[in-house]
Amino acid sequence: METNFIDYVRIYCRSGRGGRGSTHMHRAKYLPKGGPDGGNGGRGGHVILRGNRNYWTLLHLRYDRHIQAEHGGNGSKSKSTGKQGANAYIEVPCGTAVYDAETGEYICDVTEHEQEVILLKGGRGGLGNFNFATPTNKAPRYAQPGEPMQERSVILELKLLADVGLVGFPNAGKSTLVNAVSSAKPKIDNYPFTTLEPSLGIVSYRDDRSFVIADIPGIIEGASEGRGLGLRFLRHIERNSLLLFMVPADSEDIKHEYEVLLNELEKFNPDLLNKGRVLAITKCDLLGQDEELKEMLKEGLPNDIPVIFISAVAQQGLQELKDTLWTEMNNESNKIAAISTQESLIRSTKTFAYMDSISEDDEGWGDEDKGEDDEIEFLDEDDIEDLEDFEYEE
Ligand code: GDP
Ligand code: MG
Repeated sequence: METNFIDYVRIYCRSGRGGRGSTHMHRAKYLPKGGPDGGNGGRGGHVILRGNRNYWTLLHLRYDRHIQAEHGGNGSKSKSTGKQGANAYIEVPCGTAVYDAETGEYICDVTEHEQEVILLKGGRGGLGNFNFATPTNKAPRYAQPGEPMQERSVILELKLLADVGLVGFPNAGKSTLVNAVSSAKPKIDNYPFTTLEPSLGIVSYRDDRSFVIADIPGIIEGASEGRGLGLRFLRHIERNSLLLFMVPADSEDIKHEYEVLLNELEKFNPDLLNKGRVLAITKCDLLGQDEELKEMLKEGLPNDIPVIFISAVAQQGLQELKDTLWTEMNNESNKIAAISTQESLIRSTKTFAYMDSISEDDEGWGDEDKGEDDEIEFLDEDDIEDLEDFEYEE
């Protein structure tokens, strides 16, 4: 399926190798016994991940799947150090998790704007021969090679960083709620299947505070078994610190529907149940003004989480909902649960099994530019002649 909302890419990265140290011998008319003056090699460029809040998807990386930093320049005469290789930056949206593509090992997260993480270190430059001059060997014939470059294929996976994730079957009223309470909707990208686009809404709360809610579609019964796109989008709620369950007031059995949703989440990842939860009974305008009916409905419902009646269409209960979300979000135990869930998800093999099934073939990397990383630089003939003329000072 072609889509512009890209939340998963595999890229090949390679840092720059260090430049070689030089074995140059200094000589000048007035200074026949100049000695070694080969400079150090320059450092190879790093491959660096950098958070950028202007990106909402990984689309820009889709077509640029080989990232390589520049090699360091070789050292040269007069102790001049080789040029440092330019770093290669990979700009990623905040909320990107990085894994090793071969082993599935978790590498890091990029969560903050302008946060930088060195993914691959550039090789250090080799030392030039002048470093090795000693009283007994004043004209060392060798210099260090640069350190080799590093290479690695990684998987970048975007997880939206919303504070509240909406959990409900299709038609529960999720999109309508996001529209009713958000002051702004970050644009994710043109997406041809609007019902499948996870949409974010920024909710202004009281004075100058705000939080982000995410309408994540596609949670259908059986989603955790990989049916439909549900599982793919479930990934996006892994990070939400709070889950808002939404069940319409006119559903046949509110409690049962809530339990089915809960069950789906548990099958996907039991840690999700550690998150804070709020249950909203949506479309309560359909119940009319019958307060008794609401009380009755409430009786069969879980009493360990806040339950709120709302109507996005009639603008009922929305302030109470926002207050409750805000309180729960800032509740310490929910914060801790959010962090520990993240950590355990990092090791979640389930996600990986799924990721493998959607990964595209790695295109590999040609041999064209591997360099001669481990070669010691030997002197060329000119240098050797120089050395033969070279007279050691006493
Ligand atoms: P989603 O699939 O969960 O995103 O649900 P939608 O927000 O698209 O809503 C599904 C249907 O329920 C739409 O026809 C909405 O107009 C309707 N709906 C949503 N909220 C309310 C509400 O508060 N009251 C009523 N009566 N209908 C609603
Ligand atoms: Mg919707």
